[in-house]
Amino acid sequence: MRPLATTERPPWMVVSDLDGTILGNADATDRFRQWWYATNIPMYLVYSSGRHYASVGASIREFDLPTPDAVIADVGTDMRAFPSGIPFTEWSSRWWSNWQLDDICAVLDTQPELKPQPLECQSAFKRSYFVQNPPTDWLAKIRHRLRARRLSADLIYSSDRDLDVLPTGANKGSAAEFLAQRWGIPRSRVLVAGDSGNDVSMFVQGFRGIVVGNAQLDLDHLTGPNIYRSIRRFADGVIDGLEFWLERGPAGANAFQKPSHLQRDVASRDVSTEVH
Ligand SMILES: [Mg+2]
Repeated sequence: MRPLATTERPPWMVVSDLDGTILGNADATDRFRQWWYATNIPMYLVYSSGRHYASVGASIREFDLPTPDAVIADVGTDMRAFPSGIPFTEWSSRWWSNWQLDDICAVLDTQPELKPQPLECQSAFKRSYFVQNPPTDWLAKIRHRLRARRLSADLIYSSDRDLDVLPTGANKGSAAEFLAQRWGIPRSRVLVAGDSGNDVSMFVQGFRGIVVGNAQLDLDHLTGPNIYRSIRRFADGVIDGLEFWLERGPAGANAFQKPSHLQRDVASRDVSTEVH
C-alpha cells in the first residue's frame, strides 16, 4: 500500500476473517501478503476473528501477515488498535450495562450438554462452551432458560460443537460497522471476507462481501448483489474478491441496498458452523 499523507484517509476498508480465510493455505497467505504490499490502493486493514487479541497477534507474527490497523477479536466483542493493543473503549463500554456474565454462567454452566471451553477461550464479553450430545431443541431450551431469568444474550452455535454466548448485538458485523463509521468509510467501500457462520453478520451490513471458495455450507444462503463468491480458496479467494470489488469501484449511494431479507434470515438462524 502506498504511503499516505498524514492528513489523508484510506478510501477503502478491508475486514477479513483469519482462520479458513486469510489463513489455511500457506502459499495463498504468502500471495495475499505480496498482493497487499504491491497494491497502490490505500486501504484500512482489519482482521476479525473468534480468537482473542493475543492469539490473533501471535498469528500475525507467525505468518508475517500484513500489519492491520485494528483487530476485532472474540467474535466482535473486543476491538483494539494494532499493534498498540489499545482498546476501542467506546465499543466495549456498550456491553457493560446489559451483560450479566456471572448470572449467565450460573444458568448455563450447570446444563449437562454444555462444557465450558478452556480459560483462554473465555473473555469478559464471551462465554464459550463445547456442546456434547445435545438433546432435541436444546438451543431453544437454553434460550428459554436465559429469558426466564431476564438475561439478554446472543447465542451462536458452530461446527456442531461450539456455543458462543455474546452480548446482544455484539458480533463481527456490528464491530465492522462501528469501525467504518469511526473512520468515515461508506458501506460501499467496506470489503469483508469470510468462510464460516460467525462471519455471516459481516455479510448482512450492506458491505461488499467476499465468500472464499472453501467456505462452510452455512454461507450458502448468502445471495445478492453485495455478495461475491470466489472459486478460489482461502487467501487466494480474498485476493480474487478484492480485485473484483476494487475494479468495480464503489456504487453510488442510491445503488446501495442493504439486504434486509438476509437480515431476517440471520435473525432466524440460530445455528451456524465453525467458530474461528
Ligand atoms: Mg473462519
